[in-house]
Amino acid sequence: SFDGAKHIWMNGQMMPWEKANVHVMAHALHYGSSVFEGIRMYATPDGPKVFRLKDHMRRLYDSAKIYRMPIPQSIEELSSACKQVCVINELTDGAYIRPIAFRGYGEIGLAPKAEHPVDVAIGAWKWGAYLGADGLEKGVDVCVSSWQRVAPNTIPALAKSGGNYLSSQLISTEAKRLGFAEGIALSTDGTVSEGAGENLFVIRDGVLLTPPSAASILTGITRDSIIKIATDLGMTVREQSIPREALYLADEMFFTGTAAEITPIRSVDRIQIGAGKRGPLTAQLQEAFFGLFSGATKDTYGWLEGLDEE
Ligand code: PMP
Repeated sequence: SFDGAKHIWMNGQMMPWEKANVHVMAHALHYGSSVFEGIRMYATPDGPKVFRLKDHMRRLYDSAKIYRMPIPQSIEELSSACKQVCVINELTDGAYIRPIAFRGYGEIGLAPKAEHPVDVAIGAWKWGAYLGADGLEKGVDVCVSSWQRVAPNTIPALAKSGGNYLSSQLISTEAKRLGFAEGIALSTDGTVSEGAGENLFVIRDGVLLTPPSAASILTGITRDSIIKIATDLGMTVREQSIPREALYLADEMFFTGTAAEITPIRSVDRIQIGAGKRGPLTAQLQEAFFGLFSGATKDTYGWLEGLDEE
């Protein structure tokens, strides 16, 4: 399942994939004390390019800051290591890059001392469409989860931390158990939050709505990209809270995420959305987004970074 992964970067050096191990008494394994990123690298006519590497690395350091977890390396060093991992594994036709920083093996107490080791690893492999290639084209069937997102001021939603994904696992395993591709969680105030590992956009009467950061979402980098691309295409985008029932009345709906990219949603709780297939605005946004990698859309944003760039 880790196609193309032979070498991994760990604590400052490259090593064979199977050598990158941690002790079972590592703090993060017990308490969820890790922060991580998911980044895609795409093959383009100008060679392999990492998508929004700077923004992902900034979020990694932001996540660590929230948890007062000192990452031993500089952001420049880790950014360059992300690219080196792609190069050494010869992942030239695209890759998913996964940097992770975590409280490693030391004492097992909850509040780690300043000298508690923070380990850092970066893996990369080939990862296709997260919700299926078919899903990207035809749309997926989703449900509203019986599990809500974490409440504000409990576990910080803006940090992309390992512990947050207990919530995501409940949402996504429930959805799959019930025969859906993915689950959408409501926030504790009952308004729409996000998918287990994706942000959500709802379209009605040509206007794109997406929940604000106050809805306990991870403020996704793909979400931000779509807000900018849609605005540049002349579409109206509003970050506002969305009641559950507005999902059922949408003309179009889609997920955004590094893994899920732009995945159309064709039904929610078995209620058909629009024509029950990818809608026209969703198709236009997908075309503009994937066009960044085929060369059809000009990267006026400075989002693409070559593997040999500084
Ligand atoms: N929400 C959650 C909970 C996620 O795990 C992800 C994936 N990182 C996203 C949203 C989408 O974020 P991004 O577009 O930065 O990948």
